[in-house]
Amino acid sequence: MPLNIAIVGLGKITQDQHIPAIKANPAFRLVAVASLRGLSVEGVPHAFKDHRAMLAAVPDLDAVAICTPPQPRHAIARDALAAGKHALLEKPPAATLSELVDLKTAAEAAAKTLFTTWHAQYNAAVEEARERLAGRSVTRLAVTWKEDVRVWHPGQEWIWQAGGFGVFDPGINALSIVTRILPEPVFVKRADLSFPANRDAPIAADLAFGAAAGAPAGDADLTAAFDWRQTGEQSWDIAVETADGARFLLEKGGSRLAVDGKVVVDQASAEYPRIYERFAALVRDGRSEVDEAPFRLVADAFMIGRRIAVEPFAS
Ligand code: NAP
Repeated sequence: MPLNIAIVGLGKITQDQHIPAIKANPAFRLVAVASLRGLSVEGVPHAFKDHRAMLAAVPDLDAVAICTPPQPRHAIARDALAAGKHALLEKPPAATLSELVDLKTAAEAAAKTLFTTWHAQYNAAVEEARERLAGRSVTRLAVTWKEDVRVWHPGQEWIWQAGGFGVFDPGINALSIVTRILPEPVFVKRADLSFPANRDAPIAADLAFGAAAGAPAGDADLTAAFDWRQTGEQSWDIAVETADGARFLLEKGGSRLAVDGKVVVDQASAEYPRIYERFAALVRDGRSEVDEAPFRLVADAFMIGRRIAVEPFAS
């Protein structure tokens, strides 16, 4: 029997990825949607303006995918778990770390699956990099995640609000790859956050990381540069060098991997079909998957970050 699933939040990522991925996966049947405007979706029997009304009204609902901006995610996921539904969280999984910890506890109490999706991790090149980096000592990490905010986030006001994460909304994708592929954890040591004078979220961020005390990579050069002011082609690249002289370059958002200049994986992304395969398997096995690591790095950057005022942003 397929799982009856509903989606809360009917924005860009839901239209582009979640709906096609769910419809293509026989493990799921999309039975309801909820968005603030109460939009309906062709072939989906129920549409609501309010997720609570949806939880009360839709019979036999098994799971909810929460694809709103991060600010309301915790309250919606809480309600879904309390109603006995499995919950899939778009990234970032909540607005704060405490909210995510609370959801983990609530899922355990309800004996339901909680799944933090980090879509960038579902690339074959990312997995290949992780396997090849295992057991090696990293001496250099250079993350470059730069794009034109007007092209990638047109009209998204929530992204500029406090709790909208600003440039960390894409930047957290890079960090989710970093935490997945590096053999040792890294820690934010410096964060320069550039806030437009008229906004409550950063438009750019420069981070420097340290490695675990005593780890071989203690003197490593580990940085990330996020910027929304880049025009033209975006840069979604992660370069890694190891003590034994290997050079890794993950490009195109993690879909292409070159090692020592030679491309070893170049595979069109199938992130969302894989996410729903994983969700179905977790529900089947009665397990949760809650990965806090990328979220913690962002929280740390905001916690120790230096605020730099830059020119106002006009959309
Ligand atoms: P978006 O286009 O601005 O859409 C957000 C949607 O959420 C809208 O449909 C809005 O409804 C709905 N919404 C907001 N608050 C709600 C609430 N309390 N209850 C029900 N619906 C609510 O945003 P998006 O680009 O899809 O991004 C959503 C999330 O996905 C973000 O966390 C983002 O980081 C993540 N994501 C985005 C992308 C991407 O390429 N865009 C990629 C991967 C992940 P109305 O339209 O009715 O107002």
